[in-house]
Amino acid sequence: MSRSRDRTPTGVPGDAPCWDEHARLAALDAYAILDTPPEAEFEDAVQIARLACRTPMALVSLVAADRQWFKAEAGLGVRETGRDASVCAYTMGWEGLLVIPDLTQDPRTARNPLVTGPPGLRFYAGHPLVSPDGMPLGALCVLDTVPRPEGLPEEARLTLAALARQVMARMDLRRALAERDRALAAAEASRRELRQITDGLPVLIATIDRDEIYRFANRHYETWFGLRAEDVVGRSVREVVGEAAYAQRRPYLARVLAGEAVLFDTTVPGPDGGVRDARVRYLPTTEPTGGFHLLAFDVTGEKAAQAALADSLLKFQAIAESMPQMVWSTLPDGNHDYYNSRWYEFTGVASGSTDGEGWNAIFHPDDQAEAWRRWRHALATGDTYEIEYRLRRHDGVYRWVLGRAVPIRDAATGAIQRWFGTCTDIDDQVRARETLAQGRETLEALVRERTAALEATNARLTAEIAERGRVEEALRQSQKMEAVGQLTGGIAHDFNNLLTGITGALDLMKRRLAEGRLDTLARYADLATASAQRAAALTHRLLAFARRQPLVARSVEADRLVASMDDLLRRTLSERVTLTLETQDRLWRTLCDPNQLENAILNLAINARDAMPDGGRLHIATANVELDAAAVAGEPGARAGEYVCVSVSDTGAGMPPDVVARAFEPFFTTKPLGAGTGLGLSMIYGFVKQSDGHVRIASLVGRGTTVSLYLPRHAGSDAEEAEESAAPAARAAGHGTVLVVEDDATVRALIGEALEEAGYRVIAVADGPAGLRALETDGAVDLVVTDVGLPGLDGRQMVDQARAVRPGLKVLFITGYAENTAFGSGHLAPGMEMITKPFAVDAFAAKVSAMLESAGS
Ligand code: ADP
Ligand code: MG
Repeated sequence: MSRSRDRTPTGVPGDAPCWDEHARLAALDAYAILDTPPEAEFEDAVQIARLACRTPMALVSLVAADRQWFKAEAGLGVRETGRDASVCAYTMGWEGLLVIPDLTQDPRTARNPLVTGPPGLRFYAGHPLVSPDGMPLGALCVLDTVPRPEGLPEEARLTLAALARQVMARMDLRRALAERDRALAAAEASRRELRQITDGLPVLIATIDRDEIYRFANRHYETWFGLRAEDVVGRSVREVVGEAAYAQRRPYLARVLAGEAVLFDTTVPGPDGGVRDARVRYLPTTEPTGGFHLLAFDVTGEKAAQAALADSLLKFQAIAESMPQMVWSTLPDGNHDYYNSRWYEFTGVASGSTDGEGWNAIFHPDDQAEAWRRWRHALATGDTYEIEYRLRRHDGVYRWVLGRAVPIRDAATGAIQRWFGTCTDIDDQVRARETLAQGRETLEALVRERTAALEATNARLTAEIAERGRVEEALRQSQKMEAVGQLTGGIAHDFNNLLTGITGALDLMKRRLAEGRLDTLARYADLATASAQRAAALTHRLLAFARRQPLVARSVEADRLVASMDDLLRRTLSERVTLTLETQDRLWRTLCDPNQLENAILNLAINARDAMPDGGRLHIATANVELDAAAVAGEPGARAGEYVCVSVSDTGAGMPPDVVARAFEPFFTTKPLGAGTGLGLSMIYGFVKQSDGHVRIASLVGRGTTVSLYLPRHAGSDAEEAEESAAPAARAAGHGTVLVVEDDATVRALIGEALEEAGYRVIAVADGPAGLRALETDGAVDLVVTDVGLPGLDGRQMVDQARAVRPGLKVLFITGYAENTAFGSGHLAPGMEMITKPFAVDAFAAKVSAMLESAGS
């Protein structure tokens, strides 16, 4: 108002107003009062003005750009006119009341259409309506159709001025109210908007006042705390977050309330029992009311992702560091940002110095361009990067490496996220490759040469092996011959001794006969007989070794046989060897030559004794044994069945496997020269095999040896045995004719004499043909006694021919050895028997008599 007071009224029609008309119109607009419905306060004002000034008309006129509009009107009858019809427009230039006593007389209003036309106005008095900041908006005026040269009385002027101020005040109030409403609406709208925004954000948002009471909360409180936003507002932090969390938050609360922005991570237990990781930010408000804003982000996923990332990073680094190769990695644009320690160890460059593109510089200058080219190609296309190039080592030496890299792509988008690469030192391979390429020819030549040399060596070796085989064979042969020589020598020696005994005894006998001293004859005869018997035993043994001796198989009770040997064995063994015998009840009988079995047991006992020079235990056992197919599977020629087993065990030195393997070999001995012949086991082998049995050795070095003889079970009866043993006792004076065919004159004479002495008639011839002739001429022959081994026609052939004529002819063969297998025991035709040389005269006579007296004669 003070400004307007200083203003000088222009009062001159057409004068330019002293205000900016645009600003004035804007100010008028700000009141938003044009074209509004009537309002009582303004209506009252014009009525009071009309009454106070006693005029028929009064108006509250607001002067707009090209019109004037009446907020209140009395007596005029229109709500608005053009601006040209506005007298108030002039009033606005006045500080105080403008009174125009006769409008027709004033140049500003004389042509006013309301003056010149209806209602024919003549008098005007108006007071401007000026806004608090000095902008005139219009006027409160009174009008009359008659002029008033006297103007307005003072009270009317004062009233009009006061009313104008009232109207203006009313307008200001009205405007302020409208503004407040607008502000309120805007505030409400912005609050709605804020809620929409905060609810839409994935963040817990609240405003908390200085008393720690929630003033605002977004809807996430419902999911975080199970509280609706409107229920949060008005509550305290302590109530909402709970006692424990509140205690934890107190220091932060204190800080934010002291004006400091606070950021902290915490965990928030949810209403569903789960726990979320939260990052909380307290921001002090700038409002003078104090308090703060709260923003909380759920970082559970982020934490988990971070942990996963850290974990995978750790794994990657662990793997990358543990690799023997150099490992590196780049961003999708190819910028190197990782190398493992191998890289730095190899290149010797400072850590981080090859990040970015620095790597290329330590490539060999000749390889740099190509490496770049391939790397750029890989980056552009996503193809695998692969190149062999020379990389400078820490010592300045370039070494060939194989560089390889592959892109790692995003599973969803396929976009390359990283490149992972390796460098492998292949210098040795590359050089080998080069050498190989260069020297292939040389190498091939070398190989050919070497191969030829090898072949030559091989041939030489083969030849040497063959030669060695021959030499060994020859050596074996010569050893064998030597052994045979030794044996022969030994036998010859033994034989000479025996012959000396025999001839010596005979000489003495002759001398005594000549002296007529017959009393000592029997003693010399006994001596000769003993020597002869020993000689017979010797030949028998030799033949057994040659497996040529005719076995006199009989039903044998092995346990009785072993028991009968007890005395002999004890004498043979030293006193340091304990002998134990073990027999089985109801032992089966076996069929074999008892003398041979005895001999075998004796030999085994001697071997055992030799193996126990410091003494030990010798155990001989007999047992019934049934061998099934599995038990004999390993032994060629052995058959399953029932056997009588005679085993001889010792606790001696035992035999290593190679000795066991050769023990049965004739002449194989480990004993010193003269101590062993190597024939013991071989003889036993021959005997057992001939008896249709088999033999086994079980031996452990240092523990002892068991040799087991398996002799087949014999089903023969005791009666048979009785008969056999009774046979030699059946002796009687002989009757009948015996034809003796024997080429050895001494033997022929001896046999002849013995038979004649026994009472038989004897025809003695020297060979087969003579024998046959004798048979033809002398039909009285009851028995033929013939040597098997005759010159020309042998005994067997002669007998065959004779039997063709005389089928029942009885024959007793005399044989030195089983030269003919058909003569094996038990295989002779009925009426034929056999006796082995040498034999006792008594035994021979008994046999002949038994044959002649048996049925069929
Ligand atoms: P000799 O007894 O004359 O050596 P043998 O044929 O009886 O010949 O035995 C051959 C070899 O078998 C013996 O030299 C010895 O090495 C070994 N041998 C035989 N029986 C036994 C045993 N009971 N303990 C240890 N070794 C044995
Ligand atoms: Mg022996």
